Amino acid sequence: MQTRYDVIVVGAGHAGCEAAHAAARLGCRTLLLTIDLDKLAHMSCNPSIGGPAKGHLVREIDALGGLMGRITDRSAIQIRLLNESKGPAVQSLRAQCDKRLYARLMKETLERVPNLDLRQAMVERIAPPNADTQCFTVTTHTGWRYLAPAVILTTGTFLRGRAITGEAMWGAGRAGEAPAMALSEDLAALGFPLVRLKTGTPPRLAAATIDFSLTELQPGSDTPLSFGHYYPELGETIPPPEYHGPPAPIYPHPQLDGWRPQLPCYQVHTTPEFHAIIRENLHRAPLFSGIIEGVGPRYCPSIEDKIVRFADKERHGLFLEPEGWTTSEVYVQGCNTSLPEDVQWAMLRSIPALRNVELMRIGYAIEYDAVATGEITADMQTHRLRGLFFAGQINGTTGYEEAAAQGLMAGINAAHYVQGKPPVVLGRAEAYIGVLIDDLTTKEIREPYRMFTSRA
Ligand SMILES: Cc1cc2nc3c(=O)[nH]c(=O)nc-3n(C[C@H](O)[C@H](O)[C@H](O)COP(=O)(O)OP(=O)(O)OC[C@H]3O[C@@H](n4cnc5c(N)ncnc54)[C@H](O)[C@@H]3O)c2cc1C
Repeated sequence: MQTRYDVIVVGAGHAGCEAAHAAARLGCRTLLLTIDLDKLAHMSCNPSIGGPAKGHLVREIDALGGLMGRITDRSAIQIRLLNESKGPAVQSLRAQCDKRLYARLMKETLERVPNLDLRQAMVERIAPPNADTQCFTVTTHTGWRYLAPAVILTTGTFLRGRAITGEAMWGAGRAGEAPAMALSEDLAALGFPLVRLKTGTPPRLAAATIDFSLTELQPGSDTPLSFGHYYPELGETIPPPEYHGPPAPIYPHPQLDGWRPQLPCYQVHTTPEFHAIIRENLHRAPLFSGIIEGVGPRYCPSIEDKIVRFADKERHGLFLEPEGWTTSEVYVQGCNTSLPEDVQWAMLRSIPALRNVELMRIGYAIEYDAVATGEITADMQTHRLRGLFFAGQINGTTGYEEAAAQGLMAGINAAHYVQGKPPVVLGRAEAYIGVLIDDLTTKEIREPYRMFTSRA
Protein backbone atom coordinates (compact mmCIF):
# COMPACT_ATOMS: atom_id res chain seq x y z
CA MET A 1 0.00 0.00 0.00
CA GLN A 2 1.38 3.45 -0.89
CA THR A 3 0.23 6.96 -0.04
CA ARG A 4 1.63 10.09 -1.64
CA TYR A 5 2.31 13.45 0.03
CA ASP A 6 4.26 16.62 -0.83
CA VAL A 7 6.26 16.59 2.41
CA ILE A 8 6.77 13.80 4.95
CA VAL A 9 8.11 14.69 8.40
CA VAL A 10 9.54 11.80 10.44
CA GLY A 11 9.37 12.46 14.19
CA ALA A 12 7.04 14.75 16.13
CA GLY A 13 9.42 16.29 18.64
CA HIS A 14 9.99 20.02 18.76
CA ALA A 15 11.64 20.06 15.32
CA GLY A 16 9.07 17.80 13.67
CA CYS A 17 6.01 19.68 14.95
CA GLU A 18 7.29 23.04 13.71
CA ALA A 19 8.40 21.53 10.40
CA ALA A 20 5.04 19.87 9.71
CA HIS A 21 3.11 22.99 10.73
CA ALA A 22 5.21 25.26 8.48
CA ALA A 23 5.07 22.96 5.44
CA ALA A 24 1.30 22.46 5.74
CA ARG A 25 0.62 26.15 6.23
CA LEU A 26 2.63 26.89 3.10
CA GLY A 27 0.15 24.75 1.19
CA CYS A 28 1.92 21.38 1.01
CA ARG A 29 0.03 18.15 1.66
CA THR A 30 2.04 17.06 4.68
CA LEU A 31 2.32 13.87 6.71
CA LEU A 32 3.75 13.78 10.24
CA LEU A 33 4.84 10.28 11.28
CA THR A 34 5.85 9.58 14.85
CA ILE A 35 6.34 6.63 17.18
CA ASP A 36 3.82 7.78 19.82
CA LEU A 37 1.19 10.44 19.13
CA ASP A 38 0.70 10.97 22.87
CA LYS A 39 4.33 12.09 23.16
CA LEU A 40 4.09 14.81 20.53
CA ALA A 41 6.39 17.78 21.40
CA HIS A 42 7.27 15.94 24.60
CA MET A 43 9.82 17.69 26.80
CA SER A 44 12.28 14.86 27.36
CA CYS A 45 14.17 16.74 30.00
CA ASN A 46 13.49 20.06 31.70
CA PRO A 47 9.88 21.29 31.29
CA SER A 48 11.13 24.76 30.52
CA ILE A 49 11.31 26.90 27.39
CA GLY A 50 13.60 29.87 26.83
CA GLY A 51 16.49 31.22 28.86
CA PRO A 52 19.61 32.95 27.51
CA ALA A 53 19.76 32.84 23.70
CA LYS A 54 17.09 30.12 23.63
CA GLY A 55 14.47 32.73 24.56
CA HIS A 56 15.65 34.80 21.60
CA LEU A 57 15.15 31.81 19.31
CA VAL A 58 11.60 31.32 20.56
CA ARG A 59 10.68 34.91 19.80
CA GLU A 60 12.13 34.57 16.31
CA ILE A 61 10.18 31.35 15.79
CA ASP A 62 7.07 33.23 16.83
CA ALA A 63 7.82 36.16 14.52
CA LEU A 64 8.10 33.68 11.64
CA GLY A 65 4.72 32.11 12.40
CA GLY A 66 5.94 29.10 14.43
CA LEU A 67 4.14 27.55 17.36
CA MET A 68 6.58 27.24 20.26
CA GLY A 69 6.08 30.74 21.73
CA ARG A 70 2.30 30.67 21.63
CA ILE A 71 2.01 27.19 23.08
CA THR A 72 4.49 28.10 25.81
CA ASP A 73 2.38 31.14 26.72
CA ARG A 74 -0.70 28.94 27.07
CA SER A 75 1.00 26.23 29.12
CA ALA A 76 3.41 28.26 31.28
CA ILE A 77 3.07 27.62 35.01
CA GLN A 78 5.73 30.25 35.67
CA ILE A 79 7.46 32.88 33.55
CA ARG A 80 10.37 35.19 34.35
CA LEU A 81 12.74 37.60 32.63
CA LEU A 82 16.31 36.47 33.35
CA ASN A 83 19.31 38.82 33.65
CA GLU A 84 17.10 41.84 34.38
CA SER A 85 20.05 43.71 35.90
CA LYS A 86 22.13 43.22 32.71
CA GLY A 87 21.86 44.75 29.24
CA PRO A 88 18.91 44.05 26.95
CA ALA A 89 20.95 41.81 24.62
CA VAL A 90 21.27 39.14 27.29
CA GLN A 91 17.92 39.57 29.02
CA SER A 92 15.75 36.62 28.18
CA LEU A 93 12.40 35.09 28.94
CA ARG A 94 12.22 31.69 30.53
CA ALA A 95 9.00 29.84 31.16
CA GLN A 96 8.38 26.76 33.20
CA CYS A 97 5.69 24.75 31.39
CA ASP A 98 3.10 22.20 32.27
CA LYS A 99 4.70 19.36 30.35
CA ARG A 100 1.52 17.39 29.60
CA LEU A 101 -0.47 20.51 28.73
CA TYR A 102 2.24 21.67 26.29
CA ALA A 103 2.12 18.33 24.44
CA ARG A 104 -1.70 18.29 24.49
CA LEU A 105 -1.98 21.84 23.11
CA MET A 106 0.55 21.07 20.37
CA LYS A 107 -1.43 17.99 19.34
CA GLU A 108 -4.74 19.85 19.38
CA THR A 109 -3.21 22.66 17.32
CA LEU A 110 -1.67 20.37 14.69
CA GLU A 111 -4.85 18.31 14.40
CA ARG A 112 -6.66 21.42 13.22
CA VAL A 113 -4.11 22.46 10.57
CA PRO A 114 -5.47 21.98 7.03
CA ASN A 115 -3.26 19.81 4.74
CA LEU A 116 -1.66 18.03 7.70
CA ASP A 117 -2.15 14.34 8.58
CA LEU A 118 -0.82 12.88 11.81
CA ARG A 119 -0.01 9.14 11.94
CA GLN A 120 1.50 6.96 14.64
CA ALA A 121 4.16 4.70 13.08
CA MET A 122 7.83 3.82 13.44
CA VAL A 123 9.73 4.58 10.23
CA GLU A 124 12.13 1.74 9.51
CA ARG A 125 13.44 2.51 6.05
CA ILE A 126 14.03 5.44 3.74
CA ALA A 127 14.84 4.99 0.06
CA PRO A 128 15.90 7.80 -2.32
CA PRO A 129 13.84 8.73 -5.38
CA ASN A 130 13.99 6.38 -8.35
CA ALA A 131 13.08 6.90 -12.00
CA ASP A 132 9.59 5.46 -11.45
CA THR A 133 8.42 7.39 -8.43
CA GLN A 134 10.63 10.52 -8.44
CA CYS A 135 9.90 10.43 -4.72
CA PHE A 136 11.50 9.28 -1.48
CA THR A 137 9.89 6.14 -0.11
CA VAL A 138 9.45 5.91 3.63
CA THR A 139 8.49 2.48 5.01
CA THR A 140 6.96 1.95 8.44
CA HIS A 141 7.23 -1.00 10.84
CA THR A 142 4.01 -2.47 9.38
CA GLY A 143 5.36 -2.30 5.84
CA TRP A 144 3.12 0.64 4.84
CA ARG A 145 4.89 2.90 2.35
CA TYR A 146 4.56 6.66 1.98
CA LEU A 147 5.99 8.65 -0.93
CA ALA A 148 7.00 12.31 -1.14
CA PRO A 149 9.48 14.47 -3.08
CA ALA A 150 10.62 16.00 0.23
CA VAL A 151 11.30 14.24 3.54
CA ILE A 152 12.38 15.89 6.80
CA LEU A 153 14.06 13.64 9.37
CA THR A 154 13.72 14.87 12.96
CA THR A 155 14.45 11.72 14.95
CA GLY A 156 15.94 13.36 18.07
CA THR A 157 17.65 10.99 20.49
CA PHE A 158 15.99 7.89 19.04
CA LEU A 159 18.50 6.64 16.41
CA ARG A 160 20.08 3.53 17.99
CA GLY A 161 19.27 5.16 21.35
CA ARG A 162 20.69 3.51 24.49
CA ALA A 163 19.75 4.61 28.02
CA ILE A 164 22.25 4.11 30.85
CA THR A 165 21.93 4.27 34.65
CA GLY A 166 24.86 2.86 36.60
CA GLU A 167 25.53 -0.67 35.42
CA ALA A 168 22.11 -0.93 33.73
CA MET A 169 21.75 -0.31 29.98
CA TRP A 170 18.73 -0.70 27.74
CA GLY A 171 17.67 0.26 24.22
CA ALA A 172 15.54 3.43 24.38
CA GLY A 173 14.78 6.62 22.49
CA ARG A 174 13.88 8.10 25.88
CA ALA A 175 13.04 6.33 29.14
CA GLY A 176 10.03 4.08 28.51
CA GLU A 177 10.15 4.52 24.70
CA ALA A 178 11.58 2.20 22.06
CA PRO A 179 14.63 3.31 20.06
CA ALA A 180 14.66 3.56 16.26
CA MET A 181 17.21 0.89 15.34
CA ALA A 182 16.76 0.34 11.59
CA LEU A 183 16.87 3.89 10.22
CA SER A 184 20.54 4.46 11.11
CA GLU A 185 21.50 1.58 8.81
CA ASP A 186 19.78 3.22 5.84
CA LEU A 187 21.35 6.60 6.60
CA ALA A 188 24.80 5.00 6.77
CA ALA A 189 24.12 3.08 3.54
CA LEU A 190 23.17 6.38 1.87
CA GLY A 191 26.64 7.67 2.80
CA PHE A 192 25.81 9.86 5.83
CA PRO A 193 28.58 9.77 8.44
CA LEU A 194 27.08 9.13 11.89
CA VAL A 195 28.53 10.23 15.21
CA ARG A 196 27.62 9.10 18.72
CA LEU A 197 26.44 11.82 21.12
CA LYS A 198 25.14 11.73 24.67
CA THR A 199 22.92 13.74 26.97
CA GLY A 200 21.40 13.17 30.40
CA THR A 201 18.48 13.97 32.65
CA PRO A 202 18.00 14.24 36.43
CA PRO A 203 15.69 12.27 38.73
CA ARG A 204 12.06 13.40 39.25
CA LEU A 205 10.87 13.67 42.86
CA ALA A 206 7.49 13.25 44.56
CA ALA A 207 6.45 16.73 45.73
CA ALA A 208 4.64 15.39 48.80
CA THR A 209 7.94 14.03 50.14
CA ILE A 210 9.84 17.36 49.90
CA ASP A 211 10.09 19.64 52.94
CA PHE A 212 9.47 22.94 51.12
CA SER A 213 10.00 24.94 54.32
CA LEU A 214 13.74 24.14 54.01
CA THR A 215 13.99 25.50 50.45
CA GLU A 216 14.41 28.97 48.99
CA LEU A 217 11.46 30.23 46.97
CA GLN A 218 11.90 31.20 43.31
CA PRO A 219 8.67 33.00 42.33
CA GLY A 220 7.62 33.91 38.81
CA SER A 221 7.26 37.45 37.50
CA ASP A 222 4.46 39.71 38.77
CA THR A 223 4.37 41.42 35.36
CA PRO A 224 2.47 39.57 32.62
CA LEU A 225 5.09 38.31 30.16
CA SER A 226 4.78 36.31 26.97
CA PHE A 227 6.86 34.84 24.17
CA GLY A 228 4.23 35.43 21.51
CA HIS A 229 3.78 38.63 19.59
CA TYR A 230 0.14 39.58 20.11
CA TYR A 231 -1.62 42.44 18.39
CA PRO A 232 -4.24 44.15 20.57
CA GLU A 233 -5.35 46.20 17.54
CA LEU A 234 -6.41 42.89 15.93
CA GLY A 235 -8.26 41.87 19.07
CA GLU A 236 -5.52 39.50 20.26
CA THR A 237 -4.81 39.17 23.97
CA ILE A 238 -1.99 37.44 25.76
CA PRO A 239 -3.55 34.19 26.93
CA PRO A 240 -3.39 33.75 30.69
CA PRO A 241 -1.83 30.49 31.82
CA GLU A 242 -4.47 27.80 31.50
CA TYR A 243 -5.86 27.07 34.94
CA HIS A 244 -6.82 23.59 36.09
CA GLY A 245 -8.25 24.27 39.54
CA PRO A 246 -6.45 25.24 42.73
CA PRO A 247 -2.85 24.12 43.06
CA ALA A 248 -2.55 20.81 44.84
CA PRO A 249 -1.94 21.12 48.59
CA ILE A 250 1.41 19.43 48.03
CA TYR A 251 2.85 22.86 47.18
CA PRO A 252 2.28 24.85 50.37
CA HIS A 253 5.04 27.27 51.25
CA PRO A 254 5.29 29.72 54.15
CA GLN A 255 6.08 32.59 51.78
CA LEU A 256 3.06 31.94 49.55
CA ASP A 257 -0.12 33.66 50.58
CA GLY A 258 -3.05 31.84 49.13
CA TRP A 259 -3.82 30.98 45.51
CA ARG A 260 -1.92 32.37 42.58
CA PRO A 261 -1.94 31.13 39.01
CA GLN A 262 1.83 30.77 38.72
CA LEU A 263 3.65 27.99 40.56
CA PRO A 264 6.94 28.84 42.24
CA CYS A 265 10.19 26.92 41.88
CA TYR A 266 12.49 26.23 44.83
CA GLN A 267 16.23 26.16 45.39
CA VAL A 268 18.30 23.80 47.55
CA HIS A 269 22.05 23.18 47.73
CA THR A 270 24.21 20.10 47.72
CA THR A 271 25.89 19.14 51.00
CA PRO A 272 29.37 17.79 51.95
CA GLU A 273 27.69 14.39 52.42
CA PHE A 274 26.21 14.63 48.90
CA HIS A 275 29.70 15.26 47.46
CA ALA A 276 31.23 12.41 49.53
CA ILE A 277 28.59 9.91 48.31
CA ILE A 278 29.37 10.78 44.69
CA ARG A 279 33.15 10.60 45.18
CA GLU A 280 32.86 7.18 46.85
CA ASN A 281 30.86 5.88 43.89
CA LEU A 282 32.73 7.37 40.95
CA HIS A 283 34.00 3.90 39.96
CA ARG A 284 30.32 2.99 39.33
CA ALA A 285 29.61 6.11 37.24
CA PRO A 286 29.17 5.16 33.53
CA LEU A 287 30.73 8.50 32.62
CA PHE A 288 34.03 7.50 34.22
CA SER A 289 33.93 3.70 33.93
CA GLY A 290 34.02 3.85 30.10
CA ILE A 291 30.46 2.56 29.55
CA ILE A 292 29.41 5.87 27.98
CA GLU A 293 31.02 6.27 24.56
CA GLY A 294 29.10 9.29 23.24
CA VAL A 295 30.24 12.89 23.61
CA GLY A 296 28.13 14.99 26.00
CA PRO A 297 27.58 18.75 26.24
CA ARG A 298 30.39 20.39 28.27
CA TYR A 299 28.19 23.29 29.38
CA CYS A 300 25.51 21.00 30.76
CA PRO A 301 27.60 18.58 32.83
CA SER A 302 26.18 15.83 34.99
CA ILE A 303 26.37 16.36 38.74
CA GLU A 304 29.15 13.71 39.01
CA ASP A 305 31.12 15.57 36.36
CA LYS A 306 30.67 18.88 38.26
CA ILE A 307 31.89 17.31 41.52
CA VAL A 308 35.04 16.07 39.74
CA ARG A 309 35.73 19.14 37.60
CA PHE A 310 35.02 21.72 40.29
CA ALA A 311 36.46 19.75 43.21
CA ASP A 312 37.12 22.91 45.24
CA LYS A 313 33.46 23.99 45.15
CA GLU A 314 31.75 23.22 48.43
CA ARG A 315 28.19 23.26 47.15
CA HIS A 316 26.12 23.47 43.99
CA GLY A 317 22.65 24.99 43.67
CA LEU A 318 19.82 22.70 42.58
CA PHE A 319 16.40 23.98 41.50
CA LEU A 320 13.22 22.06 42.24
CA GLU A 321 10.84 22.73 39.36
CA PRO A 322 7.23 21.45 39.25
CA GLU A 323 6.44 19.58 36.03
CA GLY A 324 2.87 20.92 35.87
CA TRP A 325 -0.33 21.84 37.66
CA THR A 326 -1.80 18.38 37.71
CA THR A 327 1.23 16.28 38.54
CA SER A 328 3.28 16.03 41.72
CA GLU A 329 6.50 15.25 39.84
CA VAL A 330 9.30 17.70 40.49
CA TYR A 331 12.31 18.09 38.19
CA VAL A 332 15.73 18.62 39.81
CA GLN A 333 17.45 21.20 37.62
CA GLY A 334 21.25 20.94 37.87
CA CYS A 335 21.31 17.28 38.86
CA ASN A 336 21.70 15.38 35.57
CA THR A 337 23.11 12.02 36.46
CA SER A 338 23.62 8.46 35.29
CA LEU A 339 24.92 7.21 38.65
CA PRO A 340 23.40 3.92 39.88
CA GLU A 341 19.92 4.16 41.35
CA ASP A 342 20.98 3.52 44.97
CA VAL A 343 23.52 6.37 44.72
CA GLN A 344 20.86 8.75 43.35
CA TRP A 345 18.58 8.02 46.31
CA ALA A 346 21.40 8.38 48.86
CA MET A 347 22.84 11.64 47.49
CA LEU A 348 19.48 13.39 47.24
CA ARG A 349 18.46 12.29 50.73
CA SER A 350 21.61 13.98 52.10
CA ILE A 351 19.97 17.37 51.41
CA PRO A 352 17.93 18.58 54.43
CA ALA A 353 14.79 19.45 52.42
CA LEU A 354 14.97 16.03 50.75
CA ARG A 355 15.67 13.81 53.80
CA ASN A 356 12.54 11.72 53.12
CA VAL A 357 12.28 12.26 49.40
CA GLU A 358 10.90 9.58 47.08
CA LEU A 359 12.26 9.35 43.54
CA MET A 360 9.44 8.84 41.02
CA ARG A 361 11.83 8.52 38.06
CA ILE A 362 15.57 8.05 38.17
CA GLY A 363 18.10 10.07 36.20
CA TYR A 364 19.75 8.46 33.20
CA ALA A 365 22.06 9.23 30.29
CA ILE A 366 21.16 8.55 26.69
CA GLU A 367 23.46 7.85 23.75
CA TYR A 368 22.24 8.18 20.18
CA ASP A 369 23.34 8.56 16.57
CA ALA A 370 23.50 12.02 15.00
CA VAL A 371 24.64 13.02 11.53
CA ALA A 372 28.11 14.59 11.42
CA THR A 373 28.30 18.28 10.59
CA GLY A 374 28.83 19.44 7.04
CA GLU A 375 26.01 17.28 5.66
CA ILE A 376 23.34 19.97 5.38
CA THR A 377 23.26 23.25 3.48
CA ALA A 378 21.89 26.57 4.79
CA ASP A 379 18.34 25.58 3.79
CA MET A 380 18.55 22.42 5.99
CA GLN A 381 18.71 20.16 2.92
CA THR A 382 21.38 17.48 2.62
CA HIS A 383 24.20 17.83 0.08
CA ARG A 384 23.97 14.16 -0.79
CA LEU A 385 20.26 13.88 -1.53
CA ARG A 386 18.29 16.92 -2.61
CA GLY A 387 14.80 16.79 -1.13
CA LEU A 388 16.05 15.20 2.10
CA PHE A 389 16.15 17.59 5.07
CA PHE A 390 17.47 17.09 8.62
CA ALA A 391 16.37 19.16 11.63
CA GLY A 392 16.87 19.08 15.39
CA GLN A 393 18.96 16.77 17.52
CA ILE A 394 19.83 14.61 14.48
CA ASN A 395 22.04 17.55 13.36
CA GLY A 396 24.05 17.37 16.59
CA THR A 397 22.22 20.09 18.51
CA THR A 398 20.62 19.86 21.93
CA GLY A 399 17.63 21.77 23.24
CA TYR A 400 13.97 22.17 22.37
CA GLU A 401 14.38 25.71 21.05
CA GLU A 402 17.32 24.85 18.77
CA ALA A 403 15.28 21.92 17.44
CA ALA A 404 12.13 23.99 16.89
CA ALA A 405 14.07 26.72 15.07
CA GLN A 406 15.62 24.21 12.68
CA GLY A 407 12.30 22.42 12.22
CA LEU A 408 10.59 25.65 11.24
CA MET A 409 13.26 26.48 8.65
CA ALA A 410 13.31 22.91 7.30
CA GLY A 411 9.50 22.97 6.97
CA ILE A 412 9.56 26.29 5.11
CA ASN A 413 12.36 25.15 2.82
CA ALA A 414 10.89 21.71 2.13
CA ALA A 415 7.69 23.46 1.02
CA HIS A 416 9.66 25.88 -1.14
CA TYR A 417 11.66 22.98 -2.66
CA VAL A 418 8.46 21.15 -3.62
CA GLN A 419 6.88 24.34 -4.97
CA GLY A 420 9.99 25.32 -6.96
CA LYS A 421 10.52 28.52 -4.96
CA PRO A 422 13.91 29.83 -3.79
CA PRO A 423 15.09 28.77 -0.33
CA VAL A 424 14.63 31.00 2.72
CA VAL A 425 17.97 31.50 4.45
CA LEU A 426 18.47 33.84 7.41
CA GLY A 427 21.91 35.43 7.69
CA ARG A 428 24.09 35.58 10.82
CA ALA A 429 23.49 39.31 11.07
CA GLU A 430 19.71 38.94 10.76
CA ALA A 431 18.69 36.38 13.35
CA TYR A 432 19.90 34.01 16.02
CA ILE A 433 18.34 31.29 13.86
CA GLY A 434 20.78 32.42 11.14
CA VAL A 435 23.70 32.08 13.55
CA LEU A 436 22.55 28.62 14.62
CA ILE A 437 22.17 27.27 11.09
CA ASP A 438 25.35 28.94 9.86
CA ASP A 439 27.29 27.27 12.69
CA LEU A 440 25.73 23.91 11.85
CA THR A 441 26.68 24.17 8.21
CA THR A 442 30.14 25.74 8.44
CA LYS A 443 31.69 24.57 11.72
CA GLU A 444 32.71 21.19 12.97
CA ILE A 445 30.47 20.33 15.91
CA ARG A 446 32.27 18.04 18.33
CA GLU A 447 29.72 18.02 21.13
CA PRO A 448 25.95 18.61 21.34
CA TYR A 449 25.49 22.21 20.17
CA ARG A 450 23.38 24.69 22.09
CA MET A 451 22.76 28.36 21.44
CA PHE A 452 24.51 31.13 23.40
CA THR A 453 24.17 34.87 22.83
CA SER A 454 27.98 34.94 22.54
CA ARG A 455 27.82 32.85 19.35
CA ALA A 456 26.29 35.81 17.52
C1 LIG B 1 17.31 12.03 28.53
C2 LIG B 1 17.38 13.33 27.80
C3 LIG B 1 17.96 14.41 28.38
C4 LIG B 1 18.03 15.63 27.74
N1 LIG B 1 18.60 16.67 28.36
C5 LIG B 1 18.60 17.89 27.78
C6 LIG B 1 19.11 19.00 28.46
O1 LIG B 1 19.57 18.92 29.59
N2 LIG B 1 19.11 20.20 27.83
C7 LIG B 1 18.63 20.33 26.58
O2 LIG B 1 18.65 21.44 26.05
N3 LIG B 1 18.14 19.29 25.92
C8 LIG B 1 18.11 18.07 26.49
N4 LIG B 1 17.63 16.99 25.85
C9 LIG B 1 17.41 17.14 24.46
C10 LIG B 1 16.05 17.63 24.05
O3 LIG B 1 15.09 16.73 24.49
C11 LIG B 1 16.17 17.64 22.58
O4 LIG B 1 17.19 18.52 22.20
C12 LIG B 1 14.94 18.05 21.83
O5 LIG B 1 13.82 17.38 22.31
C13 LIG B 1 15.23 17.69 20.39
O6 LIG B 1 14.09 17.84 19.64
P1 LIG B 1 13.92 16.96 18.35
O7 LIG B 1 12.64 17.38 17.76
O8 LIG B 1 15.15 17.02 17.52
O9 LIG B 1 13.82 15.47 18.89
P2 LIG B 1 12.93 14.79 20.00
O10 LIG B 1 12.27 15.76 20.85
O11 LIG B 1 13.80 13.75 20.62
O12 LIG B 1 11.79 14.08 19.15
C14 LIG B 1 12.08 13.06 18.25
C15 LIG B 1 10.78 12.51 17.73
O13 LIG B 1 11.03 11.63 16.66
C16 LIG B 1 10.24 10.46 16.81
N5 LIG B 1 10.96 9.41 16.09
C17 LIG B 1 12.25 9.05 16.25
N6 LIG B 1 12.58 8.09 15.39
C18 LIG B 1 11.45 7.83 14.66
C19 LIG B 1 11.15 6.91 13.64
N7 LIG B 1 12.08 6.07 13.17
N8 LIG B 1 9.90 6.89 13.14
C20 LIG B 1 8.94 7.74 13.60
N9 LIG B 1 9.19 8.65 14.58
C21 LIG B 1 10.43 8.67 15.10
C22 LIG B 1 10.11 10.28 18.29
O14 LIG B 1 8.99 9.50 18.62
C23 LIG B 1 9.98 11.73 18.75
O15 LIG B 1 8.66 12.15 18.67
C24 LIG B 1 17.53 15.75 26.46
C25 LIG B 1 16.94 14.65 25.85
C26 LIG B 1 16.86 13.45 26.51
C27 LIG B 1 16.21 12.28 25.85
